[in-house]
Amino acid sequence: MTTRVCHFIPPYLLERLQPHLTDVDRALRARREAGPHPVRQGAAGAPAWVVHTCHNGADLPGDVVRSAGQPASGDDAVDEAAAGISATLDLYREVYDRASFDGEGAPVSLSVHYERGYDNAYWDGTQLVFGDGDGKVFGRFTKPVDVLGHELTHAVTERTAGLTYSGQSGALNESLSDVFGSCVKQRLLGQSAAQADWLIGEGLFLPAVQGRALRDMAHPGTAYDDPQLGKDPQAPDMSGYVDTTDDNGGVHTNSGIPNRAFYLAAVAIGGNAWEGAGRIWYDALTGPDVSAGTDFAGFAAATVAAAGAHADEVTAAWKTVGVGPGGSAS
Ligand SMILES: [Zn+2]
Repeated sequence: MTTRVCHFIPPYLLERLQPHLTDVDRALRARREAGPHPVRQGAAGAPAWVVHTCHNGADLPGDVVRSAGQPASGDDAVDEAAAGISATLDLYREVYDRASFDGEGAPVSLSVHYERGYDNAYWDGTQLVFGDGDGKVFGRFTKPVDVLGHELTHAVTERTAGLTYSGQSGALNESLSDVFGSCVKQRLLGQSAAQADWLIGEGLFLPAVQGRALRDMAHPGTAYDDPQLGKDPQAPDMSGYVDTTDDNGGVHTNSGIPNRAFYLAAVAIGGNAWEGAGRIWYDALTGPDVSAGTDFAGFAAATVAAAGAHADEVTAAWKTVGVGPGGSAS
């Protein structure tokens, strides 16, 4: 006789208590319930990933809660981080034939419940760190899977092109994290480039905030417009390029320009973004033409060179945002 688990709150009420459960939440939940994941081991037989908790303190990495191959812990932040890192490592391994962020299967260390009310997620050069959010504007940073893909991609970029985190190379560094973060999400949802919402960080803002997400790759500058947060400052093309010393030279604002180029190329090429434009962007990032100081025009040229039969679509995408491969970006 099987044990029947009686939940105090029935599922249909739980659904009502979570009106902001997104398709990504559902896909990740289905994945969690599907059991242990195939990518369990990193280099030298170590678990492919390990999730720690900081218990809302600041000591990193904190205590181990769950490693690859182990069942759900029951802690939402831990289990979201686990599902997200699995989906991200899968994209790199199965689509781009890359073993972890270093290409050699390095185990990924993640920490959740970092500090109290902490409003961010980051890669510190050795591990990924996620806050729980303040509970008013931001919820858990482990919730949107593209945030996790974004942060791990910073580690990939660091180990490949090493794009300097300032000015145009910094905006490219930021953009590549959004590009592959969005590819993780789109692949998880099985959405083509035409079907995808192209939002970054959907589900991170709590309901009081007037906004759809943190960024919108298809329509930079329109993701939010909120009395407290102000308006999404991203520019959709070079006419809105921001010259500033803030934010490492506007890396999070000017990244909207290459973000939109990727979106335009992905939609023009058609099919799945992670296979079409994603493969081209990955080849550019890891190829010989992109290095620490590469600017928008240099990166555009590298993507056109890597585009093969899709060179026209990629050239047109960059032209639309005001970046000419090999020419001046003005
Ligand atoms: Zn970033």
